[in-house]
Amino acid sequence: MEVLETVSDLRETLSAFRSSGKKIGLVPTMGYLHEGHYSLIRAARRECEVVVVSIFVNPTQFGPAEDLDQYPQDLAGDCQGCRKEGVDIVFAPAVEEMYPSGFQTYVTVEEVTKDYCGRYRPGHFRGVTTVVIKLFNMVAPDVAYFGEKDFQQSVAVRRMVADLDLPIEIRVLPTVRERDGLAMSSRNRYLSGPERAAATVLFRTLQMAREKVSIGERFPRRILDAVQEVFDAEPLVRLQYAGIADDDTLEPAERIEGHEHLLLAAFVGETRLIDNASFADVVGDNR
Ligand code: AMP
Repeated sequence: MEVLETVSDLRETLSAFRSSGKKIGLVPTMGYLHEGHYSLIRAARRECEVVVVSIFVNPTQFGPAEDLDQYPQDLAGDCQGCRKEGVDIVFAPAVEEMYPSGFQTYVTVEEVTKDYCGRYRPGHFRGVTTVVIKLFNMVAPDVAYFGEKDFQQSVAVRRMVADLDLPIEIRVLPTVRERDGLAMSSRNRYLSGPERAAATVLFRTLQMAREKVSIGERFPRRILDAVQEVFDAEPLVRLQYAGIADDDTLEPAERIEGHEHLLLAAFVGETRLIDNASFADVVGDNR
């Protein structure tokens, strides 16, 4: 496995693979890898001949009051994990390599980034889509892997790829969870004991909503009211938003038909967590 820090080294190493026609898979991450990341890496390993994992805590997707400085890092541990999974290249650039002085070009996906996380994290998705398109240009992968955990991000990336005619297949893989349902996240390490226990409220709420839909509920408003009630009963947790949105446009759903996701963001103490769930498999025959 090669650990590379510069774009020129990355291009040079990949050019040999590319000229022999090998299928290249890219897994973009911010590091501090957990089983959620490894599920993407394993899929890339199964489906591609060359696997590139990028590890870069991207400053342009953090707001001024966010956790950029505290964001957990463990490059040595991540490289060890990647080596075990048979990764070919870890690309771990410095900030100056990605954003040399004078940098001023950004890619913005418009409508699908306006609401939900986009509303509460201004500039976040502009940072995400900009770093992702830069990585796409550097690696020129055949396939890129993302987690459903960051559902709005996956919608924005898909939109960008379609709108800008990028010849890259986007694979979005299911959220990997702890045993009690908490979605794995590098930020879970910020949680105290009592907060960790309370954090399961996100998953419990998603399950409750899916249950309601499975027994015939079709009105988003009624589900969202029930969601708020569950959160109100958790003193350590504050719901930031809950919405039921179309899978592709992220427009608020008027009725649940099976092509919607419930999206949640909540503060557990000082830690902001997000989660989401699809209704596709619970709409059933009650339609
Ligand atoms: P991050 O390092 O948090 O930027 O995440 C890198 C990639 O891993 C993104 O595509 C995430 O959606 C994905 N990811 C993060 N957590 C999970 C999880 N629990 N299950 C599946 N994918 C995840």
